Amino acid sequence: MATTIKDLLTTALQDTYSAETQILDALPKMEEAATSQTLKRAFQEHLQMTQRQVERLEEVCSQLGIEPEGETCEAMEGLVEEGEQLVDDLDEGPVLDAALIGAAQKVEHYEIAAYGTLTAMLKAMGETKCADLMAQTLKEEKDTDELLTQVAESEVNPAALGTTAANDQSGRRSGAA
Ligand code: FE
Ligand code: FE
Ligand code: FE
Repeated sequence: MATTIKDLLTTALQDTYSAETQILDALPKMEEAATSQTLKRAFQEHLQMTQRQVERLEEVCSQLGIEPEGETCEAMEGLVEEGEQLVDDLDEGPVLDAALIGAAQKVEHYEIAAYGTLTAMLKAMGETKCADLMAQTLKEEKDTDELLTQVAESEVNPAALGTTAANDQSGRRSGAA
């Protein structure tokens, strides 16, 4: 079995291609499940970004003579499944929004690892143009992770805490009655 860095790169590109195409399916569902308009917009914008990221992977594969399809990213299957579970278990509102942000950030972190590796491998191989394309996507995934943290801190977590406080209060009131 020939295991060269090109073989490794092929598997990594195909795995990431599988991951991104799964995310293309998942993001509209996450957008629909979200209540916060800011979060809905973030998912919508990341969907458009993801379409360009898929095109970049296709471009890199075509430059290197690699077929983009061929692997299934099982890690992304698991992450998407966990996200779907949250949507099933929680009512729509700020608590589900907070959970969706957490699920989305796990996806971003997986992608940050994947694109970091791809960028480094391509750079090592002297494939500068392809490495630059993957570095662009890497930056988008990092920016998205930061944006999600910002939405959580500025809006969604305070709203989720407000929900809890309101429930506690009504609980206390009925307890006192
Ligand atoms: Fe992505
Ligand atoms: Fe994977
Ligand atoms: Fe992403």
